[in-house]
Amino acid sequence: MDVNLINLIEKYGSDDNKCREYLETLKWMGAVKCPRCGSEKISRIKKRSQFDCDACRYQFSVTAGTIFHDSHLPLWKWFLAVYLMAESKKGISANQLKRSLNVSYKTAWYLCHRIRKAMQEVVPSPKLTGIVEVDETYVGGKYDKRRKRGPWQKQPVMGLLQREGKFEARTICNTEKKTLHGVINERINKGVEIMTDELPAYKSLDKIGYNHDAVCHSKKEWVRGDIHTNGIENAWSLFKRSIVGSYHQISTKHMDAYLDEFEWRFNGRENPYLFRDTLMRLLNAPKMEFKELIA
Ligand SMILES: [Zn+2]
Repeated sequence: MDVNLINLIEKYGSDDNKCREYLETLKWMGAVKCPRCGSEKISRIKKRSQFDCDACRYQFSVTAGTIFHDSHLPLWKWFLAVYLMAESKKGISANQLKRSLNVSYKTAWYLCHRIRKAMQEVVPSPKLTGIVEVDETYVGGKYDKRRKRGPWQKQPVMGLLQREGKFEARTICNTEKKTLHGVINERINKGVEIMTDELPAYKSLDKIGYNHDAVCHSKKEWVRGDIHTNGIENAWSLFKRSIVGSYHQISTKHMDAYLDEFEWRFNGRENPYLFRDTLMRLLNAPKMEFKELIA
């Protein structure tokens, strides 16, 4: 189903039973299974939206042990939150979510972080291949007028974009050659064609098994044939706009989580099932305690 806000509301409205049924379909495809013993001999306890395992007598619901668990928030508000986070091009802040869903700031904040957590790639995906654009940038950091603190306070972030493929980004401790090469070795297959700008740290990529091409931005060279970093610069500008437009400021502590959220949305930008796939992630990601978030 290609979801927009209208058909989301038409389909689920504020009906928690409909939301629950959909989650049950996503989780079990009609064959309910006991999460404890794996038995498929299950009875439904109608009134409590619970199931009872005939084999081990364990009682459970579709949200047991998932990120939805222990939440007092109705499922239909979860659905709206997932929709807003997955489908808003520039993301949505906890403050905006608070207003849209008419919940407390704390609830909205918790909701954002839990959904963001579910968007994280759990298993490392295969290494990138084909043609990969690599670039680093600085994000966040506030200019402090009194102390005249400048951009050096910003968080360096490194991104890799496989053309016609996936984008990934992470925070890095510095932009030295050792750091950048480390990430490239870890995430990009040898022999791959890598496109960067003229940063000296990228210069010796040829020596460690890559085909390296660079454009010289300082000489106002942006494109030479198919050598350019336009794809990744587009990703950066979207990410930065989402920070300015929605989050205003991101603490370094949570930066990787925001990057994960952005990756999920960016890589899913042409996926008509992004809403459904995000719900699937929520059903399959381990639950998360409030303590974990504020630690
Ligand atoms: Zn059982």
